[in-house]
Amino acid sequence: MVRAYIALGSNLGDRALAIARATAQLADEELSVTRSAPIYQTAPVGPPGQPEYYNTVVEVETTKTPDALLDHVKRLEKALGRTESVRWGPRVIDLDILLYGGDVLRGPRLVVPHPEMHHRAFVLVPLLDLAPELMVPGLGLSVRSLLADLSVAPGEIVALPSA
Ligand code: AMP
Repeated sequence: MVRAYIALGSNLGDRALAIARATAQLADEELSVTRSAPIYQTAPVGPPGQPEYYNTVVEVETTKTPDALLDHVKRLEKALGRTESVRWGPRVIDLDILLYGGDVLRGPRLVVPHPEMHHRAFVLVPLLDLAPELMVPGLGLSVRSLLADLSVAPGEIVALPSA
């Protein structure tokens, strides 16, 4: 069994519903969702004029291989209505594998730890809720210290009241 962390983001349609559905549908006979961070409303990265994102991170325990986990999250994105659109454009749901145990993977399809995670506050803030002292493999720094190195503008990341 491997502990992994998956980031979820949505900025199109019913964002809270998309995140709730994705979290529920991540679970199968080979994967349990063990904990979820609160949902945060965050300023969009990418083309201007997009709606704000809802972001969170879930902790999972899984017997899936990294490739099978990637297939699983990609299938889920399709099932929940994500169509290919412009890079960093609006999306119903985006699922990124942040961490897969202590593995460092640099394959053609999958890079873990996720290559952008250390400079994305919208990932590190919810990850901090779940695993502040977790050392990010390959970087040798904790989630807390990675976040401390980022400047987060006031109002950029706002926790939503829990449902
Ligand atoms: P995205 O636009 O975020 O859905 O990601 C596009 C592609 O990134 C996917 O089709 C994956 O093959 C690749 N990718 C590489 N590393 C990761 C990762 N850690 N999590 C999710 N996708 C990844």
